[in-house]
Amino acid sequence: MNELVSASQDPAPSRLTQIRGGLRALLRTALDVALPPLCPSCRAPLGDGVGLCAACWSKLSLIEPPYCARLGIPFTYDPGPGLLSMEAIADPPAYDRARAAVRYDDIARTLVVSFKYGDRLDLAPMMAKWMARAGRELLAEADALLPVPLHWRRLWARRFNQSATLAEAISGLSGVPVLHGTLQRVRATPQQVGLSKTERADNVQGAFRVSVEEKAQVAGRRLVLIDDVLTSGATVDTCARALLRAGAAHVDVLVFARVVAAVRTTI
Ligand SMILES: [Zn+2]
Repeated sequence: MNELVSASQDPAPSRLTQIRGGLRALLRTALDVALPPLCPSCRAPLGDGVGLCAACWSKLSLIEPPYCARLGIPFTYDPGPGLLSMEAIADPPAYDRARAAVRYDDIARTLVVSFKYGDRLDLAPMMAKWMARAGRELLAEADALLPVPLHWRRLWARRFNQSATLAEAISGLSGVPVLHGTLQRVRATPQQVGLSKTERADNVQGAFRVSVEEKAQVAGRRLVLIDDVLTSGATVDTCARALLRAGAAHVDVLVFARVVAAVRTTI
């Protein structure tokens, strides 16, 4: 009897959540129709425009060369071509190269949060344009793009995977196809926010895998992982390890924004 009671109680919260989610979506659609789009950063009306207003776009901090050939971390001076940062030498990642369009500062954070949690999918084409520009070397040599996957429960709650949306938009610009579902998140992991670098690495350990049926899709191929933000790099590093284990020839990483901690030195 106890089993019956608990079985009949279990679906109730999820149904309620489902109804709440549906109502929220309806309300948002109604608001979108009623209100003109606003710049997610300064709340200025965008008129016919999309994404950020022109003033906020100009305040985004683009990452341009010179930067570490491996990690893409910007240098404060030009040490010459191909030089690596201390980080890349002391603690080399599993992936080969990482590139990011902008620094993860206040404006980039507002943009990413609006895109990810505010249903501002209209931001994707502009973010993808900057990413394709920052990652042009990587894309020129790539066989396929792979979005960093969400666990199905988080995907269900958020209704879309922001990395997959960016990957599709970059594919449209570069012609490199996207592999959806090849890389799987097999374990739900707590959010990485507030964790140290070591804690982040432990948190995502073993969270990703390439399914047996999909191994042929990655074997011997040059791949680019796509994500919105790179903080410690633990998530993309774990993804890259899973892809290399499955036989990928080469894994690069392309993100919209990356955390740039302090002034970097080279050796
Ligand atoms: Zn603005």
